[in-house]
Amino acid sequence: MLSIRRIYDDVLPINKEILAQVKEILRSRFAAVSEEAIESIGEKLRNPFKQRFRTILYVAEKLGGKVVGFALLLHEPEIGFTYLDWIAMATGRSGGGIGGALYEKVRQESGVLKVKGLFFECLPDEEKYCPDPGLLKENRSRLRFYEQYGARPVINTGYEMPVNRGDTCMPHLVYDGLGQEPPLKRSYARRVVQAILERKYAGLCPPDYVKQVVASFKDDPVQVREFRYVKPEVVNAGVESRVYEQIALVVNDRHDIHHVHERGYVESPVRVRSILKKLEKSGLFVQMKPYKFPDQHIQQVHAPDFVNYLKRACREVEEGKSLFPYVFPIRNKTRPPKEPSVLSGYYCIDTFTPINRNVYPAARRGVDCALTAAREVLNGRRIAYGLVRPPGHHAERRSFGGFCYFNNNAIAAQYLSGYGKVAILDIDYHHGNGQQDIFYRRSDVLTVSIHGHPRFAYPYFNGFEDEKGDGEGEGFNLNIPLPEVVEGEAYRKALKRAIIRVEQFNPTFLVVALGLDPAKDDPTGTWSLKARDFEHNGQLIGAMGLPTVVIQEGGYRTRTLGVNAMNFFNGLIKAVQEWASKKHKPKNKIHGLAFRQDICHEDTERVRKLVEITGYFTDAEVDVAVELVGERLEKEDSSDYHFVMAEHYGRLIGYTCYGPIPCTQSSYDIYWIAVHPDYQGRGIGRQLLKETERRIKAGGGLRAYVDTSQRVQYASTRAFYERCGYLMESLLPDFYAQGDGKVIYCKQLVQK
Ligand SMILES: [Zn+2]
Repeated sequence: MLSIRRIYDDVLPINKEILAQVKEILRSRFAAVSEEAIESIGEKLRNPFKQRFRTILYVAEKLGGKVVGFALLLHEPEIGFTYLDWIAMATGRSGGGIGGALYEKVRQESGVLKVKGLFFECLPDEEKYCPDPGLLKENRSRLRFYEQYGARPVINTGYEMPVNRGDTCMPHLVYDGLGQEPPLKRSYARRVVQAILERKYAGLCPPDYVKQVVASFKDDPVQVREFRYVKPEVVNAGVESRVYEQIALVVNDRHDIHHVHERGYVESPVRVRSILKKLEKSGLFVQMKPYKFPDQHIQQVHAPDFVNYLKRACREVEEGKSLFPYVFPIRNKTRPPKEPSVLSGYYCIDTFTPINRNVYPAARRGVDCALTAAREVLNGRRIAYGLVRPPGHHAERRSFGGFCYFNNNAIAAQYLSGYGKVAILDIDYHHGNGQQDIFYRRSDVLTVSIHGHPRFAYPYFNGFEDEKGDGEGEGFNLNIPLPEVVEGEAYRKALKRAIIRVEQFNPTFLVVALGLDPAKDDPTGTWSLKARDFEHNGQLIGAMGLPTVVIQEGGYRTRTLGVNAMNFFNGLIKAVQEWASKKHKPKNKIHGLAFRQDICHEDTERVRKLVEITGYFTDAEVDVAVELVGERLEKEDSSDYHFVMAEHYGRLIGYTCYGPIPCTQSSYDIYWIAVHPDYQGRGIGRQLLKETERRIKAGGGLRAYVDTSQRVQYASTRAFYERCGYLMESLLPDFYAQGDGKVIYCKQLVQK
């Protein structure tokens, strides 16, 4: 099976591995591409606007993670175009199907981004420009392929003008109007061409050349070549971006077998039906069947004995009977009781969530729905909704309760966490104790919950503000408990606080645990949110622009469930679409950043991890960085190595190591500066350097020195020092290797 997936960064091992395969394909297919250009792809993904283009990478993968092709798309939001930088298949693959699937994805993406055109280059298909018959054949088949979508080269311009005398086989510029087929306006085309030549070919095309090519676009509208290979009437230029823009909807098709009739059970099948009725009419959703995922996804968040218990207990309970837990192990949790009616209390947190025949199959199918929705987002869709019951957010690692059995949102988050950082935002009226428990000691999944204060609301024993996470996870759980009476306005205030925390965390994916029980007159809540409040909440969340998986949790007033859900999604999709087609400045402001000077034993490993993950240093260099920490720990204040550690909510995200230069009176060397890739481009390096200079000054230093390599790869490092006020003092040619000199920078620190 082939799937096409979007890759968001190169930080996680799995993405690194994918990217390594992409680079290998580039190397094998395009001998002329420089190693530098190949290596820079990862950085472009991490710092989207570094090249003044947003970089979007799609890979076509076979089961097991083998990459068989990829497409790299650049997005220019201000002028409004996309540029297909690369589309390539692994050697031995006849492009056909894979290339078509990738190109269609690229067109869909361009449609969603609402650009006016998709551009790319294609080598010429005319004999006079391309005398090599083999190459000519290839170029022709390529241009034929694109013609099927209506994409053709622009003509009567100087785009094919040689850059250097004697250059042959210059590429055509191909324009795909994405089915809207607007005339290609001259002024627009000129801006597009200028951006392509200046940014993509910076250093290759001299300014005069760019000027000349831009000026050569004289026709208005710019002319596009006649169809050469395909009859115009068979062209299929439409973009399925509308379908693609729709929210993927995955409904648990087996939810209604779980129907508890006893004790006025409000978590009933009609809930899903009333939501679905409203959504179906809107046209905003595209429904997909749940795919069956293996059990291991559940066991990654729930204890295996708990999973086995649920499976077995449901099977063994008498048909048509519900078993309600009633005795709980407060004093001794080490001995599970034998008697089934008592054993249920060993794995449950309350008396009103029963075990019966249908619980397990219904809950198990709900998990598949949550994972299917997550996979849609992983594949590049912006929003997916798992409309499931039973709900999940009260299910902890080894317990069920609060109508919940498996924690659907946590299972989706765990799955996504293999591909990027995940934030779970729980907006159910009740505290999301389940995912809090599951991720309490982790820093790669942030859990945030806004809920009725536990002093009056279920689950009563947690949800307090001082539960902030533990160990590695300290600072990565945020509870916002609210009073009994809350209206839309007060709710939004809390939601904004939650959103600030999510944005600081800077996740790749967002999981929303959507409860509709904050609504007015909900039988399980005390708040009074109205339909338009849900729309407003959706907007606030959508404005983060994150790929979002929404998982249905609570909400029990069936009369308003549908309209409230619909309003929430209206707000969400509107905001997400607005976000996608706008330009965004990287967010530089980081709250919760702290510096410290003292180091501890744990820092040895933290520094190793940090230095490794930046990917800039060799193994030997990493060892040196770690040794310096060791030397400081051993010699304490008599060591000449000093540190400034930058922490974000307790996590080490950057550091410097510096010290006085021996045999000088007031000169200091800054030996190391490293910033975690998640935080690069957000001003951390500059703040670290400032803090380091402040401490050097406090120690009597007058000059700070840094050095770096002369090679092109270090251009951004050198620019960074220069921006921070460092002046190049000297260059030692061939210092590191032939052609690789050492550049020494210095900054005078004025004593006050
Ligand atoms: Zn609830």
